Amino acid sequence: NLQEKLQRAFKNLRGQGTVSEENISEALREIRLALLESDVNLNVTKDLIEHIREKALGQQVATALSPTEQVIKIIHGELVELLGRDTARFKFASQPPSVILMAGLQGSGKTTTTGKLAQWLKKGGHRPMLVSVDVYRPAAREQLAVVAKSIGTQLYTGNVGADEAGTPLVLRLAKEAKRDAANFGCDILLVDTAGRLGIDEELMGEMSELKKLLNPSEILFVADAMTGQDAVNSAKAFHDRLGITGVVLTKMDGDARGGAALSIRQVTGAPVKFIGTGEKPDAFEPFHPDRIVSRIMGMGDIATLLERAEEKLDRGKAEAFAKKALAGDGFSLEDFRDQLRQIKKLGSMQSILKMLPSVGPFQGLQQAAGQVDESQFTRVEAIINSMTAKERLNHEIISGSRRKRIAAGSGTSVQEVNNLLRQYAQMRKMFKGMGAGGGKMQRRLMSQMGSMG
Ligand code: GDP
Ligand code: MG
Repeated sequence: NLQEKLQRAFKNLRGQGTVSEENISEALREIRLALLESDVNLNVTKDLIEHIREKALGQQVATALSPTEQVIKIIHGELVELLGRDTARFKFASQPPSVILMAGLQGSGKTTTTGKLAQWLKKGGHRPMLVSVDVYRPAAREQLAVVAKSIGTQLYTGNVGADEAGTPLVLRLAKEAKRDAANFGCDILLVDTAGRLGIDEELMGEMSELKKLLNPSEILFVADAMTGQDAVNSAKAFHDRLGITGVVLTKMDGDARGGAALSIRQVTGAPVKFIGTGEKPDAFEPFHPDRIVSRIMGMGDIATLLERAEEKLDRGKAEAFAKKALAGDGFSLEDFRDQLRQIKKLGSMQSILKMLPSVGPFQGLQQAAGQVDESQFTRVEAIINSMTAKERLNHEIISGSRRKRIAAGSGTSVQEVNNLLRQYAQMRKMFKGMGAGGGKMQRRLMSQMGSMG
């Protein structure tokens, strides 16, 4: 993918002591190829490479950075520039409710994203209401109802009656929903629309009517990043016709070629505002150009990882665990399960590993990410769940026959249960050893665990 290819180019560049015109050209050739193969638009690529070349060759060498570091910094800067530099701001209407119109092709992730966005807004102190105006497929409206329920937001389900003026059902629904949102004190109305398999006149007409009626403060085009250049093209078609205010790139967790993210802004003029990184409601984040570029260039995205940890982990719990683990009695399986649950809150192991740099001491972790067995966490938790409370507090009382029962109860094997118990015992002993081994190690570990939470 794009990330791997770019990193290869940088690695070669890093390997050089000095930067000459030749090795810059060589690196730029590789970067150009990587971008094109990843579906970045040809013109975008050309411009980008030219900018980098000019800057790299014209630069002053008198800085603390080595020449190759300077070139890498230039490339980083240019890519960030390409994406619009700043995190795009989210617009609200001066008079609530603000309306957010979700646009996009079928299957791009509109309904899922509507839910994610509602949850994100809720966390920011807003009161969103959802409505689906997909009157063509009853299942579509039902899907949004399920989403609304799972995140606990208002949903407009009203059955609008006949209308003498002959206004189409879609428009009547939208209008009533907006009134309802105001009545319920909801400050934002998210409108999930019908998608089509391709861009057609009927869809565009309907979207324009909705726009005229609702006067939305945001028209977000939801694009599937996996579809690469197609996503860019349909975003452009929507923008030309409708004037979108931003793009949400979904399925960035997949094996996306990455090119869409880099060219969509340049081609459409509309900034990427959010990305979707999974199917769950919280697999969603505002788009920070500098962080994405760092991720793509293999410099990791520690900022996002720390933010996530800050938000999801319970610092008190982590400290309590560390204290217990190092003390005489050690930590129980109950405590261990608590810790597992905390870690799981950070997201999949893959998504965590992807945010670490792929250079220096972290090299190789990215590759390992592909081999992580996500189900392992779940299985370990299932095993611990199948124990009795007493057993969780004292693993030594778990007999052979109980191990069989636990394996059966958790849908695992006796061997897995034995493995877990053995590993747990080892870990517990190791921690206790550190605790007994005197203050220095203990303090270091404690402060490390503390700063993780
Ligand atoms: P819609 O037709 O545009 O409303 O699309 P849906 O919201 O129904 O989503 C289509 C499929 O894509 C569903 O299976 C979603 O779970 C999945 N999906 C949506 N967003 C993401 C994402 O960010 N990552 C992944 N992996 N899947 C997603
Ligand atoms: Mg849908």
